[in-house]
Amino acid sequence: DDFLMILKKVEEGEELSFEDIVRLLKTERKAEMDALFDAADRMRKEIIGDTVDIRGAIEFSNICRKDCKYCGVRKSLNDLKRYRMSEDEIMDVVHQIHKIGLQTVILQSGEDLWWTPEKIVSIIKRIKKETGMRITLSIGERPKEEYALYKKMGADNFLLKIETTNKDIFKFIHPDDDFNIRKQCSSWLRELGYLNGSGNIIGLPGQRVEDIARDIIYFKEMGINMIGIGPFLPAKGTPFEKYPPGSVDMTLKAVAVTRIVCKRVFLPATTALATLDPDGQTKALKAGANTIMLINTPVKYRYNYQIYSEKNMVDLESAYKAITESGRKFPPYLKIDLEELKDA
Ligand code: SAM
Ligand code: SF4
Repeated sequence: DDFLMILKKVEEGEELSFEDIVRLLKTERKAEMDALFDAADRMRKEIIGDTVDIRGAIEFSNICRKDCKYCGVRKSLNDLKRYRMSEDEIMDVVHQIHKIGLQTVILQSGEDLWWTPEKIVSIIKRIKKETGMRITLSIGERPKEEYALYKKMGADNFLLKIETTNKDIFKFIHPDDDFNIRKQCSSWLRELGYLNGSGNIIGLPGQRVEDIARDIIYFKEMGINMIGIGPFLPAKGTPFEKYPPGSVDMTLKAVAVTRIVCKRVFLPATTALATLDPDGQTKALKAGANTIMLINTPVKYRYNYQIYSEKNMVDLESAYKAITESGRKFPPYLKIDLEELKDA
């Protein structure tokens, strides 16, 4: 039938149309979903291999000038403690991450302009000098000159999710943002030679399957290299706190179709998915995903970086579980005793 015809097109290396993508995303039949996940899993195996890449994230500031309606650290939320880690605190965690062998550190924060270019450059330089690790920045929208400076000083990757390509939804959820500016930022990052990260949220109010299909085509057309696809999760105290979470299945289908359409990209099994479903990361790894991001934020700060409520703390133990359960390989650069994790 038509579903299998579309998967056959994939096997034969043919490009999928918008209608094909919508058809794949719309299925709710178990057998079809399994066939879709298998097709994405095969493509992942062929293109990337079996190793799951593991990265470490430090959420170094929860101070934000913006008020995104979905986000649990948006500026108008009062009942959380705002924090900024010091440079030395950040470096302590960088060294811990480096010690276990990880090769990439992700520095994420709210849009906190206290972190001037000088301060960010200072951290980039220290990470490079003291560990040589690859650096991913996820600090929101900044002027092109700043992105250029960070790249020149040694930043490698940047994560700035488009969140949705539906302009009406984008406007509704982002009181401070303009779709075209965000897209412009993403183009600058690509021009400047970053490994360019984007992504979307599944299950936003008013979002239709067609919107998700357009997001995936956007990732492909923009030449995005890393694509974080996570379900919407309601955060307490936000305007969206009563909204239902996005669906696990729709998120997995989006991951699978993105693998099929965008092919050679980094697709994380996201923390948001792990929060919604304890087996979410295992399922994503079996549906096209190939990386896991550990949360390495110090315990005393973590609970104030609940961008959504009940946020799961992805750690080495849970990554171990997802990687073994999905039958995949640990990265060769890990310098830890896997036996210890097994017992944990
Ligand atoms: N401030 C930077 C930015 O917005 O790009 C980086 C930090 S922001 C917390 C990182 C990501 O968290 C966003 O791109 C968004 O997709 C995700 N996020 C925030 N609140 C969320 C929620 N309630 N449900 C799902 N994802 C959420
Ligand atoms: Fe700030 Fe990012 Fe949250 Fe928006 S999503 S409020 S920019 S931390």
